[in-house]
Amino acid sequence: MGRIQHYERPQKLDEALRILAERKGKACVLAGGTSLALRLPPGVDTLVDISRIGLTGLEDRGDSLAIRACTTVAQLAAMPQSRQLYGGLLARAALCVASTPLRNQITVGGNLVQVMPWSDLPGVMLALDGQIVIQGPSPRIVPLRDFYAAHPRNSLSAGDLVTEVRIPKPVGRVQSSFVKVGKTAFDYAGLTVTVVAWLSGNEVRKCSVALGAVRPLPVRIPQAEEEIVGRIPTRDDMIRAAARAAGVLEPSLDFRYSKDYRRQLIKVWVKRCLHEALA
Ligand SMILES: Cc1cc2nc3c(=O)[nH]c(=O)nc-3n(C[C@H](O)[C@H](O)[C@H](O)COP(=O)(O)OP(=O)(O)OC[C@H]3O[C@@H](n4cnc5c(N)ncnc54)[C@H](O)[C@@H]3O)c2cc1C
Repeated sequence: MGRIQHYERPQKLDEALRILAERKGKACVLAGGTSLALRLPPGVDTLVDISRIGLTGLEDRGDSLAIRACTTVAQLAAMPQSRQLYGGLLARAALCVASTPLRNQITVGGNLVQVMPWSDLPGVMLALDGQIVIQGPSPRIVPLRDFYAAHPRNSLSAGDLVTEVRIPKPVGRVQSSFVKVGKTAFDYAGLTVTVVAWLSGNEVRKCSVALGAVRPLPVRIPQAEEEIVGRIPTRDDMIRAAARAAGVLEPSLDFRYSKDYRRQLIKVWVKRCLHEALA
């Protein structure tokens, strides 16, 4: 933090956007600060603290739930909506992030923007077909599928501010599962698996299988999803889906696990998550 010359704490969104625009390239959004405390982007001399501009909490938007960017991961975990919607998937994933003190500090927006290979929420929001809302010189709403096609640092420009992530509300019967695999309870993920299944009777009409921590960015696995959609999946369908998930990705290097071991983890945990979601 030695290079910081200015600390701004705007009280309104417009004010924050103005400062970011005026000090283009030199100003950086400060949310929970857990990542910025370790590393400051090059050329930055101004921090714009967005904790007071009203970006905390959830808002029901009818067909979607808007999670505001400065909501902390601990707040997300405690909210009734995240404990109820999608079988409590959001709360379950939020409680897997880091440790209690860090969950009190890390924001949902920061976790989605500063996506690290081990970040827990991006894969879950991707599986839920979430959309990111960006304010700034070119206000836009970007599906997470596109947001994570490349690292967000490449698509967000200097004046951009993520204000919320929108999660569609479940339509009909929806079941889900999430697992984080690590060496200890506080370890960074070696793998995260999210499964969401939208059902019509017992038939799966839509399914998301998203993996985190095996590649630099979270990914959806359409090859696994297509083994499940349009049928009442049997155990064999789930085994086939899991085998396809393990076959399509080349896991990144990780000093804790070999690539073969991680492929095996994918095979085992995708099958278990499908089973949990669909049993
Ligand atoms: C020891 C440790 C362990 C951790 N373990 C885990 C873990 O197990 N799982 C996990 O998911 N995460 C974990 N994290 C958190 C993760 O690595 C990031 O530090 C965190 O998600 C960043 O969120 P933040 O709110 O603190 O963002 P900040 O540090 O404030 O910001 C990070 C970056 O995102 C930008 N940014 C933040 N918010 C916005 C916004 N609204 N609009 C535009 N840009 C924005 C900032 O400008 C900055 O460049 C851990 C962190 C630490 C320090």
